[in-house]
Amino acid sequence: MMASEHDQHEEQIYRLRHSTAHVMAEAVLEMFPEGKLAFGPPIEDGFYYDFDLPRPLTTEDLGVIEQRMQEIIEGDYPFVQRDVTVEEAKSMFSDQPYKIDQIEKLAQGEDIEDDHPEDAAGAGPTNQLSIYSHHSFTDLCRGPHLGRTGQIPEDAFKLLSVAGAYWRGDENQPMLQRIYGTVWENHEELEDYLWRLEEAARRDHRKLGKQLDLYSIQEPGGPGLICWHPKGGRIRRVIEEFWYQEHERGGYEILYTPHVGRADLWSISGHLDHYRESMYSPMDVDGQDYYVKPMNCPYQLLVYNSRRRSYRELPLRWAELGTVYRYERSGVLHGLLRVRGFTIDDAHIICRPDQVEDEILGVYDFSLSMLRAFGFEDFAIYLATRPESYVGIPEQWVQGEQALERALEAQGLPWELDAGGGAFYGPKIDIKVKDALGRQWQTTTIQFDFNLPQRFDMTYVGEDGQEHEPYVVHRALLGSLERFFGTLIEHYGGAFPAWLAPTQVLLIPIADRHNDYAHQVARRLKEAGLRVEVNDSSDRMQAKIRDAQLQKVPYMLVIGDREIENEAVSVRLRSGEDLGAQPVSGFVAMAQEAVAQKRDL
Ligand SMILES: [Zn+2]
Ligand SMILES: [Zn+2]
Repeated sequence: MMASEHDQHEEQIYRLRHSTAHVMAEAVLEMFPEGKLAFGPPIEDGFYYDFDLPRPLTTEDLGVIEQRMQEIIEGDYPFVQRDVTVEEAKSMFSDQPYKIDQIEKLAQGEDIEDDHPEDAAGAGPTNQLSIYSHHSFTDLCRGPHLGRTGQIPEDAFKLLSVAGAYWRGDENQPMLQRIYGTVWENHEELEDYLWRLEEAARRDHRKLGKQLDLYSIQEPGGPGLICWHPKGGRIRRVIEEFWYQEHERGGYEILYTPHVGRADLWSISGHLDHYRESMYSPMDVDGQDYYVKPMNCPYQLLVYNSRRRSYRELPLRWAELGTVYRYERSGVLHGLLRVRGFTIDDAHIICRPDQVEDEILGVYDFSLSMLRAFGFEDFAIYLATRPESYVGIPEQWVQGEQALERALEAQGLPWELDAGGGAFYGPKIDIKVKDALGRQWQTTTIQFDFNLPQRFDMTYVGEDGQEHEPYVVHRALLGSLERFFGTLIEHYGGAFPAWLAPTQVLLIPIADRHNDYAHQVARRLKEAGLRVEVNDSSDRMQAKIRDAQLQKVPYMLVIGDREIENEAVSVRLRSGEDLGAQPVSGFVAMAQEAVAQKRDL
């Protein structure tokens, strides 16, 4: 599609979703004439509208509202825009307190939160507001809308759910009821979307985390704090071991730094001035304030400064699986994806200006090969450049941005420019992986820092005997182990490839008399480095197989009289495929090969 066609299509979808939100709001107000309207914007894949209603909505209500929406669509009423003065608007919405609140904000020229830009009237105080009407319904609204309600395809929309939402997202404001809906250009698109929703629910890492006994969040311990259970721990160990091994191959050194530090450190780093709202309150140690670390960099930079550095020892590549703690509002916490404590697969590259291009190229290649090893093939890649207010000198920014861009070009994958989207302290590359359902998940960040080297007064002695300031690049490849784990769970739907699976092989003796042989085989497999369990319970074989399938174990080895006689095992795959009887040594070789290649049989 041409860019302009693409934009036109986006605009059409926007009109469709926004118009359907208005139609829904009319239907809801007909049901509850005393209901109060809040905001109702289009969103990705659909729309919502927030209401203050006399009673909680039920699933049956949604059906009734949908019915009524059908009739309004069939009525084919035109959407009509009109400009009104602030006074007119106030009298029109006199029984709608949230709209009055919004009218007053707009009149004063205050835009509301940026997740509802379509309702904002633009900057500056104004006496003119825009309203849209159709049939019996009128909303404060800039549009745009469809021409008529009849342009909404009546077999391509659905109301999905009701959730609580605070007015203006503020916990001190009234709790409203938010109805989520979806609408598409035709029935097939709706069906496809509903399938993706169902599939996403089936892959939800919070659900699978429990079902597969991978991790939990313990109520007495507090929200947003992750406990890795033994099976989750096995996966983490595999990830970490692979990570350490690849980093050592890539010329990195491993650092370990403390979890808390004195206020002095966070003053030098600037965190107390600029990052305090994400940090936890200090603890008193011998009359001094100590803070739990929100980032790993400051300690690493102290290590750099622990002695004089010569140009000859650069570049330094210092990696650390560094656990940090950051405050997040309880309302935004979400499983493994938004947490309050997490381990960054961090590293800092400290180098000379003449090395920076090679270093960036190296780290970008490294990140892609790392992500590919975990089964991600599709990426959304962004280059974020200098924002309006920034620190550092422009030449540094130019060199940094060029190094990032050359790395992107050298790899040849498509990428997008996020002009002005860099942090105030440096430009960056962000990589999001696309999962099996096409959803994007944030992973890699490669980020210049023109701020910390100055704050920490970092130098190296150059060939000329003078002191120079090195470049510092922060990078995380997987992001955080917690979020990456959540991403992996959803990408694979819990059916991890053999190299990651917590249990790779489950042995299934058919009867008690086969248990000894099963344990004997298990020992052999363990010696070969495989993660093995034996189900020697008294369950029937079919029940054992079903259980193994629920646990998504890649390989099931069934053992009966015939297998014992032939020193063999009968191999069944998670997919249901039956590979038949194999000599034990043959299976071991096959499984080891698959694990080494990071692929399934
Ligand atoms: Zn509107
Ligand atoms: Zn850092």
